[in-house]
Amino acid sequence: LVVLGIETSCDDTAAAVVRGNGEILSQVISSQAELLAQYGGVAPKQAEEAHSRVIDKVVQDALDRANVTEKDLCCCCYHWTWFGPLSTRELIGVQKARRVAGAFNLPIVGVHHMEAHALVARLVEHELSFPFMALLISGGHNIIVLAHKLGQYTQLGTTVDDAIGEAFDKTAKWLGLDMRRSGGPAVEELALEGDSKSVMFNVPMKNHKDCNFSYAGLKTQVRLAIAAREIDAKCPVSSATKADRRNRADIAASFQRVAVLHLEEKCERAIDWALKLEPSIKHMVRDSNIKRMFCTCPLNLPSNPLILQVVSGGVASNQYVRFRLNNIVENKNLKLVCPPPSLCTDNGVMVAWTGLEHFRVGRFDPPPPAMEPDDFMYDIRPRWPLGEEYAQGRSEAR
Ligand code: ATP
Ligand code: FE
Repeated sequence: LVVLGIETSCDDTAAAVVRGNGEILSQVISSQAELLAQYGGVAPKQAEEAHSRVIDKVVQDALDRANVTEKDLCCCCYHWTWFGPLSTRELIGVQKARRVAGAFNLPIVGVHHMEAHALVARLVEHELSFPFMALLISGGHNIIVLAHKLGQYTQLGTTVDDAIGEAFDKTAKWLGLDMRRSGGPAVEELALEGDSKSVMFNVPMKNHKDCNFSYAGLKTQVRLAIAAREIDAKCPVSSATKADRRNRADIAASFQRVAVLHLEEKCERAIDWALKLEPSIKHMVRDSNIKRMFCTCPLNLPSNPLILQVVSGGVASNQYVRFRLNNIVENKNLKLVCPPPSLCTDNGVMVAWTGLEHFRVGRFDPPPPAMEPDDFMYDIRPRWPLGEEYAQGRSEAR
């Protein structure tokens, strides 16, 4: 089996070809870094135009580098189908997938973005079987889910406002860091020069006994600390004086420490919940109509290794995040699986692989009519909770 995955959900245009055994035959990403720098973040309209310009070439490059043609493919995968949160950016990838599938009579598979972030870990770690726990931390999401089986997830916690990646991005912008790449790596790099205890930011939601997250307050704390130290974001860090640079590094390091401490605390609780089958989970699961799925999970059996798998969002590619979460997980005698950084941020491989997982169990759409792939109608929803389509029985309808 050879599968093509296309990903255009955010600011990069990506495509990849993956074999059924998990071998990555090619991975192509066309970055919109210059646009990001120009607009200080993702500019939806410009991003959409950039996707349109390069999508054909990116897909062709992915096929060429993998040394395959469309005729070798078993299916073509893209983000989401009609039940997904599609922005008009994503439509560029959807339409391309439908054109390829229509022209070569291939089935197509719509893939939930966050499920793809989670399941790419199964490509990396073949022993990662269901059920497992996943922390998905990215630009727009901050969720902890129990992955019961393909397409079936229980969300234990989510952010009540911003995701951690958004907090990294804003911190980078306010600290005058290079925005030609996303903010996270820039903050991580500068933090290496700083004292992480120099600014005492408050850890969010200390008194909330749940697994939810909040990063809006921490963002405000960072902004106030930057103002108090009279840091000028318009002056790039590369031109800052030594003392100014040190100030910025201290804020970056202190922010990163507290942002990750928040993750650690909530992950620890989520693991305890899952391992002890804490009553509030049972309650939640009963309420959300997926009790049956949960009951099929022998999470409390000692012989079953529950794996907390940190994945998704470039945020999982942060070395400090990986190190700290690994400690938490090891202290609980569990194992952490974390895909390599290139598979943590958005990429075509995760889409191809997750599509393949669905394709194998017979979940796919028939080839679209070859002549009118662009006329297909989609629901555009900004959010669609992971697993919801299956809870509603929509998979049966496909
Ligand atoms: P979502 O997956 O929620 O839809 P997205 O697809 O835009 O969001 P990803 O590509 O999955 O996000 O991840 C990008 C985010 O990860 C950005 O917010 C970026 O700053 C962050 N990030 C990337 N690398 C790092 C890093 N080394 N440290 C911290 N954050 C990082
Ligand atoms: Fe993502």
